[in-house]
Amino acid sequence: SLFSDLKLDSRLQKNIDLKGYESLTIIQEQAIPPLLEGRDIMAISRTGSGKTAAFLIPIILHALQDPGNFSALVVAPTRELAIQIGEEFVSLTKGMQLRSSTFIGGTNINGNLQQLKKKAHLIIGTPGRLLDLAAQRALDLRRTNTLVLDEFDRMLDMGFVNDVKKLVKLIGPRDQTMLFSATLDPGQKQLISGLLQDPVEIKV
Ligand code: AMP
Repeated sequence: SLFSDLKLDSRLQKNIDLKGYESLTIIQEQAIPPLLEGRDIMAISRTGSGKTAAFLIPIILHALQDPGNFSALVVAPTRELAIQIGEEFVSLTKGMQLRSSTFIGGTNINGNLQQLKKKAHLIIGTPGRLLDLAAQRALDLRRTNTLVLDEFDRMLDMGFVNDVKKLVKLIGPRDQTMLFSATLDPGQKQLISGLLQDPVEIKV
């Protein structure tokens, strides 16, 4: 189907047009409707499938509905991925009063602390840096109402399992959780089911 069939907020539709997206990718077709209804999802999909827009479009629409309270967190395994997600958010939210901040390792934490003085609707980061900022009480994860765990299998491969568990515990109860992974290891089933509530399962 076409983005224009979804009758999206006109500013979002314009930004999608500017990016040259016309048809939804398969993951977008399957993920966007349940996400707009507020469901949790567990999506098995590769990079290059259009998964970033699949989670950012519902996040943007929910943020526009309640900009004063909305707070989403995207946890990504690598700095590069976090930066890419931030860039996609910026291009999709042109002309809207929505802010994002990206916090990754290897950068000056004082810059992050400065940035955290301004409220962001979306925070994107790598696990270690997000935990550092939470430990310094600069980042209040309890405000998070939407959580995205991107490239979850890669986060586990990189040894972030305990960091992810700590982040989830600090976030506490939330409205919506989305988990994206390229693979599904049966050994991770129990961990994943503890993170998601009655998820819609998508495999593309
Ligand atoms: P991702 O899987 O999110 O990394 O996206 C892979 C590439 O597909 C990126 O270059 C996106 O800009 C692009 N893309 C995402 N959604 C669409 C779409 N509906 N139509 C065309 N390109 C897209």
